[in-house]
Amino acid sequence: MCDTLLALGHAMLHDMKRIERVRLYPTARQDEALRLMLDVTRQLYNALLQERRDAYRYNRVTVTTRMQYGELTALRSEDARLKAVYRECEDAVLHRLDLAMQAFFQRLRRGEVPGYPRFKSWQRWEQLEFPHGDRALRLDEYQRRVRVPGVGAVLLRKGRRVPASYGRVWLVRKLGRWYACFECERAMQPLPSTGHTVGIDRGVHVLAALSDGRLIGNAAVGERRRAATKRLQRELEAMTVRDSAGHAINRKDPRRQRAQLRLARSKAREANARRDYAHKVSRQIVDGADVIALEKLALRAMTRSAKGSVEHPGRNVAAKAGLNRRLLDSGFGLLRQMIVAKAEEAARTVVEVDARFSSQTCSRCGHVARESRRRRRFGCVSCGFANHADVNAALVIRWRAQLALQSELDPAEDAGPCSQDAAA
Ligand SMILES: [Zn+2]
Repeated sequence: MCDTLLALGHAMLHDMKRIERVRLYPTARQDEALRLMLDVTRQLYNALLQERRDAYRYNRVTVTTRMQYGELTALRSEDARLKAVYRECEDAVLHRLDLAMQAFFQRLRRGEVPGYPRFKSWQRWEQLEFPHGDRALRLDEYQRRVRVPGVGAVLLRKGRRVPASYGRVWLVRKLGRWYACFECERAMQPLPSTGHTVGIDRGVHVLAALSDGRLIGNAAVGERRRAATKRLQRELEAMTVRDSAGHAINRKDPRRQRAQLRLARSKAREANARRDYAHKVSRQIVDGADVIALEKLALRAMTRSAKGSVEHPGRNVAAKAGLNRRLLDSGFGLLRQMIVAKAEEAARTVVEVDARFSSQTCSRCGHVARESRRRRRFGCVSCGFANHADVNAALVIRWRAQLALQSELDPAEDAGPCSQDAAA
């Protein structure tokens, strides 16, 4: 009956990477050196892009990555600034450009109307990549400092443990602060079996509802921080001078720039609080169940429908793109992403099910009726089953996942009616 879709589960073991982020405390000189590296790599990116554009525009010649790799070697022997930057950082720039071009051509082939890769302004260039970080960057024994080629030994935040082996490393400048991001292998740590299956519904009235009756509220996600952010936003607005067209004309005012930075940091703290909370909740969920059932999302299809193609430009593009962004940024999207990642690490099974009509379906008898749903409460018009509306939906999702697993194990057997250990 329900066209369930089995996905994920153990099939996602390929992407077992995790990022360990550590704050850096460079001295003023080191900060200057790092910023110079940002500058040089950004200019390199723009120059490589320019070359590709010009060669194609004027001579219809496609400049390949291999050609530019050779050129880079030649350029380094002439340009002292280029030479001063660690070679592999520059190779990574070329690779980044290559990825941007590949994505561009891929979208072209799909019939979309992509924008040509853009030149990077300094605001949009904030990271240095070391493709073989373990070879380029050395941590001292107690992880107090990390040695960065061309910069020196930079102080690290205390108390963080970077695993002995790591791959790529990025040095990232964010809101005036520096971080080192180490890419590490994520070790599989299967958790002991619990015998439970949990269904999770993206709630209408709460952030998420679990089939065991637990409700995860939105309010817990940094309300106080949000108030602080709003206050800083008002402060910034109060010191902004606008022309008749509404454009800020005192952008360079240092007082305003400081207010802008305070606001950006407050927003970052808000996002961190939201992440911490999602980490905690997802940890509890994954620890407590062997099988986790989630609503299947159709994000990709939606993205495509919003942008449209050359022949059929999308309608209502801005609104749909906005919706997509909300889905991805929303508390639930974040929670979902973390559940999937942790489940993978713990060798738990994630089942994605079609959640259509889950809010109108009775989780005990399966009867579908719009009348059964009365705001926050669900009361089945057929069998009288009553529960919180979102919990009922979570139970339906759980039930559909069990059906899907059953039919996968034994396709011949007709899956029976619903199981019901509902937490009423
Ligand atoms: Zn019922």
